[in-house]
Amino acid sequence: MKPDLHDQNVAHSQPVEAILQQYSVKPHDGLSEEQITRQRIQYGLNTLPVAAPNPWWKRLLRQFHNLLIYVLLVAAILAGMLAEWLDMAVILAVVLVNVLIGFIQEGKAERALSAIQSMLSSEARVVRGGDHTVIDAQELVPGDILILEAGQKVPADVRIIESSSLQCQEAALTGESVPISKQTDAVDVEAPLADRRTMAFAGTLITYGQGVGVVTATGRHTELGLINQMLGRVDSLETPLIKQMNIFARYLTYVILGCAALLFFLGWVRGYELAYLFMAVVSLVVAAIPEGLPTILTVALALGVTTMASRHAIIRRLPAVETLGAVSTICSDKTGTLTRNEMMVVSALTEHQAYEVTGEGYASEGTIENWHNDDDALLWMTRISALCNDSTFKERDGVRIVLGDPMEAALLVFAERAGRSNRRLTPEWPRLKTLPFDSSHKYMATLHGYQDEQGVEHFYVFVKGAPEQLLKRCETDTDYWHNQIAKQAQEGRRVLGFAMCEVNEDTVLSHETLASGLRFLGITGLIDPPRAEAIQAVRECQEAGIAVRMITGDHALTASAIAAQLGITHADHVLTGADLERMSDDELIERVHDTAVFARTTPEHKLRLVQALQAHGDIVAMTGDGVNDSPALKQANIGIAMGKSGTDAAREASEMVLTDDNFASIVHAVREGRTVYDNLKKAISFLLPVNGGESLAIMLALIFALTLPILPLQILWVNMVSSIVLALALAFERGERDIMQRPPRPAREALLSGALLWRITLVSALFTIGIFGIFQWASQQGFSDGYARTMAVNTLVAMEVWYLFSVRYLRRKSFSREGIKGTRPIFYAVSLVFVLQLIFTYAPFMQQWFATEGLRFEHGLLCIGVGVLVFVILEVEKFLRTWLQSRKINDAQAHG
Ligand code: ADP
Ligand code: MG
Repeated sequence: MKPDLHDQNVAHSQPVEAILQQYSVKPHDGLSEEQITRQRIQYGLNTLPVAAPNPWWKRLLRQFHNLLIYVLLVAAILAGMLAEWLDMAVILAVVLVNVLIGFIQEGKAERALSAIQSMLSSEARVVRGGDHTVIDAQELVPGDILILEAGQKVPADVRIIESSSLQCQEAALTGESVPISKQTDAVDVEAPLADRRTMAFAGTLITYGQGVGVVTATGRHTELGLINQMLGRVDSLETPLIKQMNIFARYLTYVILGCAALLFFLGWVRGYELAYLFMAVVSLVVAAIPEGLPTILTVALALGVTTMASRHAIIRRLPAVETLGAVSTICSDKTGTLTRNEMMVVSALTEHQAYEVTGEGYASEGTIENWHNDDDALLWMTRISALCNDSTFKERDGVRIVLGDPMEAALLVFAERAGRSNRRLTPEWPRLKTLPFDSSHKYMATLHGYQDEQGVEHFYVFVKGAPEQLLKRCETDTDYWHNQIAKQAQEGRRVLGFAMCEVNEDTVLSHETLASGLRFLGITGLIDPPRAEAIQAVRECQEAGIAVRMITGDHALTASAIAAQLGITHADHVLTGADLERMSDDELIERVHDTAVFARTTPEHKLRLVQALQAHGDIVAMTGDGVNDSPALKQANIGIAMGKSGTDAAREASEMVLTDDNFASIVHAVREGRTVYDNLKKAISFLLPVNGGESLAIMLALIFALTLPILPLQILWVNMVSSIVLALALAFERGERDIMQRPPRPAREALLSGALLWRITLVSALFTIGIFGIFQWASQQGFSDGYARTMAVNTLVAMEVWYLFSVRYLRRKSFSREGIKGTRPIFYAVSLVFVLQLIFTYAPFMQQWFATEGLRFEHGLLCIGVGVLVFVILEVEKFLRTWLQSRKINDAQAHG
């Protein structure tokens, strides 16, 4: 059986009927179960082959690809050549342990990240077994009837059988970025891809219009599959901070190697024994290079991304994790993000009368009070509600699930409560044309035919949309209506207008033909309550110094009322799309900071808003769902696409996708972003001084020809085992309690800031003093060098442990019950290190390997005591520094 690759390639040149016949499918019914099963067996799932992940041994080998490891391997070989077998074995063992830790942790991190990538599967709307359903796009088979809509990424190759102004952007396939309009009339067989206007190709984006098509090829049989393009590759594990760190680490390594060479030369001139000198220099290199850092940064990042995903925020581009922590303004859509998007028509108004609508949610039970079929305007409004409507319900476990726009669903319910279901009306009023809703025109229109009792054909245009838009096109008492609209909007209700006109058969439905001559029927008021979580999230944001701005296509008064309910500060500072049109960019920059609500905007305005905010140095997070939102999403520092209601186009342009469309999830992600950034900083400020202290101690010993207080192998042990275990715990730190009570970090904050450099210097000095002090003390007491060194190593590790507690809180004091108790990872890490140090000190084989000696109990306590001392000194320093800072701020305020 040959797959009809051939047929697929000519689908564009065949008439619609031929295609339908080929797949034995009818547009209104779609494929049957049985047909689907057959096609599935023949063609498989609609997926593209994904590049196989690197095999485990390759990933393991990659861990060795690291300058430090090379240095160590060379050292091991040299030790072997000098017949220092023990040294060689220990170096190799430590290298292996280190590589394994890196391998396991990075493997976990990568798996977590790729699991998250695969959460972003796309959906397809199809007709199957006579019903409209939504399926996972990978379930598509050739012959499926696919509904196409602006914003979608086309999931398979499709022969168009119905098109209303359908346009596709095919850059992914042809490189051409101008959208191509699609048609149903067959084109020439020989037409190149770009001219096959009867086809929509997998991987391209629908930028405009609506349509229906038959799937002609799936998976690797699609044009995209044929050119074998891999989609959705996982980002590399790099963010600006990590890149900065990697560059820093590389320079550091060179500097250290230079120092090492210099020391080697000096020692040689002084006449040290070569083998000893060599090991000393190797230990310096090991001591100075923060080898654990890359792994720890990766782990912290992956943990952050995983936590975000579990809270409904999926990161598409890794650097966003860091940027999130610096967000200073969140611009959010209103409908569905800040509000629940469970709409309900609660009132209706015609020129004759006002009506209240009763009922709960989407249940069809409910009535329109006072309505006795006597008001012809309301009769039309309910018809329009049912017919000028693209949404449907699906019954699942007795609950109605909306397919489509919730506002339209509310209108269906409204019509039902008036006794007019769309199932009954549709056959009587067949829809002939559609002018789909778009957020610039803000209305939707449909053209219907109707046969009256005498058998005479009539044609009607039904329009629903933003009432101001409709009023412009009608002869009516505009002032009266604007008053009524304002009244409804002030209650936070969304107001929708209805209009109609009778036309003749050959009317073309377009925005131009609807420019005038409509009959205005009335308005309905819809409620859409704010999400309870959003109210709290708004408060959290504002406490965290992050401004919340609402952007909506809705009426200014509605938006402002909802903003007030949400607790957004300056909810009454509103600018409308019309205001924005009048303003120059400079004026907008001036006004933008004082404005909390942008109403009656179009997506084009969003781009200007982002730019105006960025002109202030703001780091902007911006939500979006439609095709036209893409430029703004791209421009924003964090573009946030809606996972549920959003289009594929918006997703592609975004850094982050919200799986629950909920504003509160953005705020969770910001909190997590701040936590991750803090943890990265903590890991860095933990590891660097440890390295600094050790290398300083060794350098001093070499320069001043003192006995080495710590042996090279011992350093290797501390750095590649104890330090890494401790630092890994920092990657798991939860956010500090006040993490959302401080202002966002400045966007351009340098990583190695003055404060961090100072801390590195201070801690390095303390560590050096501690190591030398203990070693000298033990030597003076008459203990052997081996005993003194064991004390020095244990003191160093104890100082590290206590420093870990200190570093956990960057600003607050660590000397609190919470601070000492620590989190579970910290507890495990510290216990593990404690046990490891016991083995290191007392196990005979370790004593042999690392030249350690068993310590007396009181001396063990002494080591720990030195650690406590360092902790106390650092806490006092932290206290003084915060105190000085707050005084400076107070002074500044007093003078300002
Ligand atoms: P929002 O930012 O609140 O989602 P939209 O851009 O979706 O606003 O809608 C703007 C206005 O357009 C609404 O206030 C309403 O009057 C009108 N509108 C929204 N959806 C539709 C629709 N499906 N059909 C007709 N008009 C609509
Ligand atoms: Mg909307």
